[in-house]
Amino acid sequence: MLTRYLFDNLATCLFAVLACMVSVQPVGLRADDGMIQEQEQQEMKYAIAIHGGAGSSPENYSPEANESRRQSMERALEIGTEVLKNGGSALDAVEQVVVFLEDDPQFNAGRGAVFNEHGSHELDASIMDGATKDVGAVAGVSRVRNPIQLARRVMTESRHVMLGGVGAENFASRQGLIMVQPNYFDTPATLQRWMQSRQRMNGQSNNEIELKIEDTGSYYGTVGCVALDSAGNLAAATSTGGMSNKSYGRIGDSPITGAGNYADNATCAVSGTGIGEQYIRHTVCYDIAAQMQYGGKSLAEAVADNLANRLDPGDGGVIAVDRDGNIVMEFSTGGMARAAADSSGRFEVLWEEQPAGAAEGG
Ligand code: ASP
Repeated sequence: MLTRYLFDNLATCLFAVLACMVSVQPVGLRADDGMIQEQEQQEMKYAIAIHGGAGSSPENYSPEANESRRQSMERALEIGTEVLKNGGSALDAVEQVVVFLEDDPQFNAGRGAVFNEHGSHELDASIMDGATKDVGAVAGVSRVRNPIQLARRVMTESRHVMLGGVGAENFASRQGLIMVQPNYFDTPATLQRWMQSRQRMNGQSNNEIELKIEDTGSYYGTVGCVALDSAGNLAAATSTGGMSNKSYGRIGDSPITGAGNYADNATCAVSGTGIGEQYIRHTVCYDIAAQMQYGGKSLAEAVADNLANRLDPGDGGVIAVDRDGNIVMEFSTGGMARAAADSSGRFEVLWEEQPAGAAEGG
């Protein structure tokens, strides 16, 4: 009898414990799910900004050309956002965006690069990984379809950080990158622009020629992209044909780390556009990061200080993203094609002119 009583009660207890486990388990899972979702949302934080050159005031283009360039910027933003949204790296995002814009003849990078004084093209590009501070840069290449891809190969497949001219091209072909004839980069628009620059500079010696944004051919748009990915890594990429009618052999700021391009996970990623000589003299992109790191400034303050106090009015602009995903796109020229997106849902291409000194984003 006693045995039977104990057995019945034990069975009831076991049943009760099991029932509890069954009813508690789903609640526990739901709580975990919520935490995981929240974590994923936090981890999926990303931000991206793109520029299409600091001379690109809408006034310089027909309404059709403006619309077509705007559409390209939008497509570039979609490409970069897609990479980041799917958990891709900032490096992949900036490279893919810049490849797309290099292939678009409407921009002064890759196809559509401006002419130098000899009527040929010399392209510069660089990419930087903010996580490792690894850099890849190429200068003065004329036969590589996508200089930014070559820059990335220099970073990952060589012992060096920068290669130039024929040596860089030989490396590109050994790497299996697409090689082109130098006239691949010609477009009727850049040819016309080059002829106008030559007429304006006709009779002046090299020293007398003052570098102004209107004379640089930046109307055609150097391109750059900065991004923060969901793993918290920053990257920057910049690519250009340089300045229209530039001296043969001239190298600008775009391939020079800290001048026209910079990324450091501790602070920000920056891409510059404008008079390259000024960006080199003032190490603009690094200075923005340094003001944040050593001066405790916000990204917007560091950018504003560079445009107001280090560069001269009209020298150019920058796009930048900091490690928290704040985006700043500022310029002191008549216009700068620019676009930004982030994980909060921001997705915009900005085309209108902006009064100098007015920061955007935050
Ligand atoms: N910074 C580029 C250079 O000097 C030109 C540009 O941004 O338009 O080569």
